[in-house]
Amino acid sequence: MSATTAKLIKGATGDWETVIGLEIHAQVTSNSKLFSGASTEFGGEPNSHVSLVDAAMPGMLPVINEECVRQAVRTGLGLNAQINRRSVFDRKNYFYPDLPQGYQISQYKSPIVGEGEVVVELEGGRTATVGIERLHLEQDAGKSLHDRSPSLSYVDLNRSGVALMEIVSKPDIRDAEQAKAYVTKLRSILRYLGTCDGDMEKGSLRADVNVSVRKPGGPLGTRCEIKNMNSITFIGQAIEYEARRQIGIIEDGGTIDQETRLFDPGKGETRSMRSKEEAHDYRYFPDPDLLPLEFSEAFVAELKANLPELPDQKKARFIAEFGLSPYDAGVLVAERESADFYETVLAGLADKSRDGKLAANWVINELFGRLNKEGRDITGSPVSAAQLAAIVELIGEGTISGKIAKDLFEIVWTEGGDPRVLVETRGMKQVTDLGAIERVVDDIIAANPDKVEQAKAKPQLVGWFVGQVMKSSGGKANPQAVNDLLKSKLGI
Ligand code: ADP
Ligand code: MG
Repeated sequence: MSATTAKLIKGATGDWETVIGLEIHAQVTSNSKLFSGASTEFGGEPNSHVSLVDAAMPGMLPVINEECVRQAVRTGLGLNAQINRRSVFDRKNYFYPDLPQGYQISQYKSPIVGEGEVVVELEGGRTATVGIERLHLEQDAGKSLHDRSPSLSYVDLNRSGVALMEIVSKPDIRDAEQAKAYVTKLRSILRYLGTCDGDMEKGSLRADVNVSVRKPGGPLGTRCEIKNMNSITFIGQAIEYEARRQIGIIEDGGTIDQETRLFDPGKGETRSMRSKEEAHDYRYFPDPDLLPLEFSEAFVAELKANLPELPDQKKARFIAEFGLSPYDAGVLVAERESADFYETVLAGLADKSRDGKLAANWVINELFGRLNKEGRDITGSPVSAAQLAAIVELIGEGTISGKIAKDLFEIVWTEGGDPRVLVETRGMKQVTDLGAIERVVDDIIAANPDKVEQAKAKPQLVGWFVGQVMKSSGGKANPQAVNDLLKSKLGI
């Protein structure tokens, strides 16, 4: 692992280091809720997905949804974490109108998953390792609606009881870039695993961001917690603002109060929500309605054996099998959809070892470049993986040059069609017929006697001749053949 240099912040009294720990709430991908059979579907009519358990009717008993348990264990395995074969559900007691039970069922002292770690990619090929403290399962609450009536608040319990995984990091993160990279990587792992859809706009992934500052290497400072962030960009902005705010207070001789804050994206500021004195005392105790969760080694082993290939492994394999640079491999695996697309392109290639790397270049540079320019994402790509594979193969086998391939790509992008057929019907084939190339070469040499003289003294000028021949052949001459012919004819 390469060493990481985190960004320090300059204050009036010297450099400061930011210390960050994240608590991420990730909604478990599952058709039904954690302790009831009600649907988890997003966007239904208010209170259309509510069972008697979710509404906390007296006497109703929760029944654990095994699928959610499996998802949490799979996530733990994907985070290289300790899976606790015995865990306990606790009641976390507090009152809130959208929490009909009067308590949230969560896990406290004995979570389902213990310590793990995530390697995050930073700019310039640097990496940082972020420790995971724990992952536990808990229920989501409902939602209060204050904008439906001038005099009443309504409650929608559709989310009530939906399974969440709370993933708590250690305070290992040292600046905003690392925090953003951590959320990005965690989200990617969850999406590869299929354990959370990672949709931050819909609230499927939210982060509480704990921030403190200290002199580099000094003892940990007092933290403030910025609640409920659902945008990676805002997380970065909130950390930068909050660290500077704390430095300002300490340098002015003040102290930091441990408190909960909210980020205001409009102002780019955090503001106080509640102080530690108002913090809840949750009176956790084991939920008497639920037995401890216990599973066998075989249960965990089976889930482990069936995990999909995760981004780090995929990256290593792309590097080893196709000679991709770590950077390119990282770009391809960052999102599950891009990795899937690249792998479908690979599946369409007859000679993967010859064309695998070329295919990566085309996916990253031509396809992603073009998609970015038009603000589209890979799932809406007008050029399919099969079409891209055909273009790459046409280059790899020498039928078209890279330059012509760009024209071909353009045609496929705008008009569609089978690249192999297009190359035939539009006469785009590369000319490898030496006789034909030789005639063009001869013409160019004859027309430029002065350049011929110069090239004899300065062989690099052959590049100019290659350019001329390629131009007059409409980019269709085989560049290697042109080069070879020119060198022999010019005697260089
Ligand atoms: P709580 O529920 O009280 O917020 P947790 O243990 O669930 O406590 O979460 C604490 C989070 O705060 C963890 O992500 C941890 O890494 C982070 N953290 C703890 N101490 C500090 C600190 N001094 N500075 C920044 N983050 C911290
Ligand atoms: Mg917290």
